Amino acid sequence: MKIGFIGLGIMGKPMSKNLVKAGHELLINDRNKETLKELKALGAEVCTTNKEIAEKCDVVITMLPNSPNVKDVVFGENGLIEGAHKGLTLIDMSSIAPLASREIGAALLEKGVEMLDAPVSGGEPKAIDGTISVMVGGKQEIFDKYLDLMKAMAGSVVRVGEIGAGNIAKLCNQTIVAINIAAVSEALVLAQKAGVSPELVYNAIRGGLAGSTVLDAKAPLIMDRKFDPGFRINLHIKDLNNVIETSHGIGVPLPLTTAVREMMEFLKVDGHEMEDHSSLVKYYEKLANTEVHR
Ligand code: NAD
Repeated sequence: MKIGFIGLGIMGKPMSKNLVKAGHELLINDRNKETLKELKALGAEVCTTNKEIAEKCDVVITMLPNSPNVKDVVFGENGLIEGAHKGLTLIDMSSIAPLASREIGAALLEKGVEMLDAPVSGGEPKAIDGTISVMVGGKQEIFDKYLDLMKAMAGSVVRVGEIGAGNIAKLCNQTIVAINIAAVSEALVLAQKAGVSPELVYNAIRGGLAGSTVLDAKAPLIMDRKFDPGFRINLHIKDLNNVIETSHGIGVPLPLTTAVREMMEFLKVDGHEMEDHSSLVKYYEKLANTEVHR
C-alpha cells in the first residue's frame, strides 16, 4: 500500500516517521521544503505536487492547520482532486470545521474518492510515542479498512459517526482542554500569590479529583516557564473559533469556551500567539501581578 502524507509540521513529522518505522512506503509533500529533508533521509519519496501524490497513492493522509489549508491541498492548483482515482481514500487528520469535512468529503465522493475525518489529540509527545488518540468520522467499512494504518500512529482509534463526526469530537476535546488549562492556571496563580508552593500544591492534588491529564502535562511546564509549542495559542484560537461557529449554528451557548477564547485573544495581542497554550497562565499572572514558579 502506497501512502501519501501532506503536512509535516509539529504533529505530521513524528506521525509520518511512525509510519516509516512500521514499514510503510511513504510519499510526502509540505509547503515548507526544509521539513521534508528528515523524512527523505528515512526513505520517504518527496513529491512536488499533491496531484502527483494522489495519482501514485492508495491512501493520502493530511495533517494541516485548518479548513482553508485542507481545501487548498484538495482543490487548489495541482491539488489532490486532480489526481483522484477510484479506490483512493483521503484520511484528513487535521482539526478543521466539521462542515468543511462534510463539504470536502462530498466533493471527493463525486470523483470516487472516500474520506475519513480523523483529527487527533495528545500533542507532540504522544505523536512521537505513537500514542495519540484519533476520533474518526466516515463510513464503517472505510474505517475498518484503514484501522491498522491509523493504529500505527495511535494509542486509541475510535469511530464516532459519519463524516464530520470526528471533528465534532475534536471540538469537544478542545473545549475541555482550553477550560482545563484556564482552571489549572487560575489555581496555580492562587497558590503562588497566597505564598504556598505551586509545586507542593500540584503534588498534593494531582492524585485527587482535581487531577487530570492537562494538569500533569501543563503544570510542570508552567512552573518551569517552558512555553515552546507544543500546541500553539494561534491553533487553539482557530479551534475555539470552529467550536463557537459550530455551536452557535446549532443553538448551543458556550459561556466558558467564549471566555477562554477571549483570554487567548488577549495573549495574541500581547505577543504570545506562537507559544504553547499553557501560556494562558500569563493572562492570570497579569491580573494578579505575580508569576508562577516551583
Ligand atoms: P504545524 O503548523 O506545525 O504544521 C502544519 C504543516 O502544514 C506545516 O509544516 C506547513 O508547512 C504545512 N502546510 C500548510 N499548508 C500547506 C499546504 N497548502 N500544502 C502543503 N503543506 C502545507 O501544525 P501542527 O501543530 O502540526 O498541527 C497540525 C494540525 O493538527 C492542526 O489542525 C492542529 O490543530 C492539530 N493538532 C495539533 C496538536 C499539537 O499539539 N501541535 C495536537 C493535536 C492536533
